[in-house]
Amino acid sequence: MTRDPRLKAVAIRSPRGARTTEIDWADGHKSLYPHTVLRGYCPCAGCQGHTGEIAFHEPAGDAQLELDDIEPVGGYALGLKWFDGHASGIYSFRYLRELCQCAACASPDRGNRPRA
Ligand SMILES: [Zn+2]
Ligand SMILES: [Zn+2]
Repeated sequence: MTRDPRLKAVAIRSPRGARTTEIDWADGHKSLYPHTVLRGYCPCAGCQGHTGEIAFHEPAGDAQLELDDIEPVGGYALGLKWFDGHASGIYSFRYLRELCQCAACASPDRGNRPRA
């Protein structure tokens, strides 16, 4: 388990039917993720292949945008299960921080971070 408060989620909110998931971090940062971003950047090998390059894949249909379940994985990640049955994406907290869509995180000097 990491001690870095930037990589520790203290609260996760994903209301049923909503197309967004919120994460509060231990350093006080709050992230809001449209599900298009979460699903489009699913980190599993099936979605991303093995090239090491993270690519955005436009979700196809409502079932790919609705979360069925969120499961903590080993204190360092979240496993997301989608309504279409896709459940192989393990989103590390580090990865989720990189996906943060807020204005501060999205500033250009962040470099080539994933972006929708
Ligand atoms: Zn995937
Ligand atoms: Zn942010």
